[in-house]
Amino acid sequence: MIAPPDAAPASRHPVLEVIGVTKAFHGVPALRGVDLVLEHGEVHGVVGQNGAGKSTLMKILTGVYARDAGVIRIDGQEAELDSPLAARDRGIGMVFQEFSLIPTLTVAQNVFLTREPRANRFFLDDAAAERRTSELLNDLGVTIDPRTPVERLPVGARQLVEIAKALAKEPRILILDEPTASLTTRETETLFAVIERLKARGLSLIYISHHLQDLLRISDRVTVLRDGQRVLASSVAETTLAEVIRAMLGSALETRTARNRVIDRTAQPLLEVRDLVARGHDAAISFAVWPGEVVGIAGLLGSGRSEIIRAIYGIDPPRRGEIIVRGRPVAIRTTADALHLGMALVPEDRRSQGLVLDHTVRDN
Ligand code: ADP
Ligand code: MG
Repeated sequence: MIAPPDAAPASRHPVLEVIGVTKAFHGVPALRGVDLVLEHGEVHGVVGQNGAGKSTLMKILTGVYARDAGVIRIDGQEAELDSPLAARDRGIGMVFQEFSLIPTLTVAQNVFLTREPRANRFFLDDAAAERRTSELLNDLGVTIDPRTPVERLPVGARQLVEIAKALAKEPRILILDEPTASLTTRETETLFAVIERLKARGLSLIYISHHLQDLLRISDRVTVLRDGQRVLASSVAETTLAEVIRAMLGSALETRTARNRVIDRTAQPLLEVRDLVARGHDAAISFAVWPGEVVGIAGLLGSGRSEIIRAIYGIDPPRRGEIIVRGRPVAIRTTADALHLGMALVPEDRRSQGLVLDHTVRDN
């Protein structure tokens, strides 16, 4: 239902071949002769540090940028991909990292929005759109009511709608750029199940992520880019996380991993949390944060990570416990109290909790 069945038996050629693709911006090379081979029905992980050229390559594949040199073949035939429409016609679809959904429209309206001519932004046959959207979502194994306004959906569900929207264009190659960036562990699992289904149906996927463990779990093969060049291409079964990291970092590995930042823990902590019991929990937690320090809080879903932060930040005042800022016990009852004490929170769902989207950048 999702992938149009191949008219001919799967060709001997890879579904996509990128050969020696080059691209420079104002004379500065972003891609320097990159090769990439995508086989039918595989998930192909693409990794690299920021600036390695991943997005530039994907924008070339989706017809957003024109390449300076190199060849792209689809099923063994040269493809121009000189516009987004041309890329779409050749069966290349993209799930955007920054969500492209319109919050006030329903799921179905969003899924079919971009299929409509520009002059007419509204789908005339809502019922048909809803039926087709239901089919797409059912195929993905998820239950989301197509009539729900997107703004009422959690982030994970929005990501799935984003995928349904890409699938409505019936791609054969689907590119996912950092799809798990704002998902919870559980939502990521759902996404991975969806990817497995798409793969089983013969779709080929390119998966970009900084979460290397996730990427190696879901991918069949991996390509590593560094400074606009392919430095590793391997089947995941024949490589290791360490090899991938080494390829990404190159000779910078030793200096990168040697942390020579020293935290002076004899000084006064900036923040101390003593025997704090967050709302809905029983266990008390204590920890301290010193200047210049990054403290990670890890735990399974439901273990209370977010609740601790909500308690400290005055969103849900704690049941018990003490919070000490720069040596002084403080009472944080509202987020305004937390702000006055010099704390800032970047929340889990930055779209809905972090920003007031209809206010200006400055106000935010
Ligand atoms: P990645 O997605 O791997 O982080 P990018 O493809 O975004 O890397 O960037 C590769 C290089 O190309 C970087 O040096 C970046 O600064 C440059 N670059 C990307 N897009 C543009 C652009 N539109 N104009 C100028 N330079 C760009
Ligand atoms: Mg990028």
